[in-house]
Amino acid sequence: MARFFKRAPAPPPAEPKSRRRDFSELKPDPDKIGISGSVPFVRLPEPGTLFADRAARLRAAAPGHPLEAYLLFVAAVARAQAVVQATCPPPAAPDRADLALRAEHGMPLLSRHTLEADPGFDGCLTALLAELDLSAAPEASQAARSGLLAASREDRLDLAVQVFEGALPVDRIAECVFVAAALQVRFAEAAARLDAKTLKPVADGVCPCCGGAPVASVVVSWTPADKARYLSCSLCGTYWNHVRIRCTACGSGEGISYYGLDEVSKDVQVETCTTCHSYIKHLHQHQAPGLDPVADDIASYGLDLKIAEDGFRRAGLNLLFVI
Ligand SMILES: [Zn+2]
Ligand SMILES: [Zn+2]
Repeated sequence: MARFFKRAPAPPPAEPKSRRRDFSELKPDPDKIGISGSVPFVRLPEPGTLFADRAARLRAAAPGHPLEAYLLFVAAVARAQAVVQATCPPPAAPDRADLALRAEHGMPLLSRHTLEADPGFDGCLTALLAELDLSAAPEASQAARSGLLAASREDRLDLAVQVFEGALPVDRIAECVFVAAALQVRFAEAAARLDAKTLKPVADGVCPCCGGAPVASVVVSWTPADKARYLSCSLCGTYWNHVRIRCTACGSGEGISYYGLDEVSKDVQVETCTTCHSYIKHLHQHQAPGLDPVADDIASYGLDLKIAEDGFRRAGLNLLFVI
């Protein structure tokens, strides 16, 4: 049964339409962002294993789970991502001068221009749609696939730009899941080709590679430092360092608490902030190395339901589980 939860003040006003920030206003401040300096700032994604591992994790979590059907659906999406990642030609290397300029101005190195300049994106998306096994999926998902395949290339790219910007049209959410899946493949590949040494902190809760929002906070096991904490990007899969006990949404170190639920794995908690009333999943990968930010965020949905009752809003973004 539920435990720990306490009452919180009323939630803040509705979020702005886009989840992306205007980076021209930001002034990177590593001290404020809290980079510890003793651990690698980023770990770039490994697209060759990322999606297959995620599919396996989802399939393992599904049997008997209250969200079994949805976990299997996302497992089918992740399997299709693994197939197209392995078979579609990767995106071209980003323009070096553009990368240098963006780094100089403290901006994420990849942008919507990366997407608009990628001639292979549409082929990746349509290949993913063709690869998907939706035999057990709800009718809405099958209709979304048919609708996307029937749409023009321009319409698919326009929707992809909206998903990249974090401004998902509510009447096209089922299509957005498939578009996001293709974006994850392309941006994981693009991020994997960046030079990790050129990446710098941008702002709290902003991926230094692509500007995406984190899906979850992860205490990792793969650095020599004890219990180093990273955020995992919802779009490109990059992990970037974020100091512990600091809100990922507003940067406050005050009023941070951690909660779990008996019916959810003890290795998955939520980190809540009473300054901005947001929360994010907090995964103890150092205790359970198989935890996957996207898969285990969905599998721990019971935590979302419970913490929402107490007035907290989600700071994390899971593009395959838009709630
Ligand atoms: Zn990213
Ligand atoms: Zn906060």
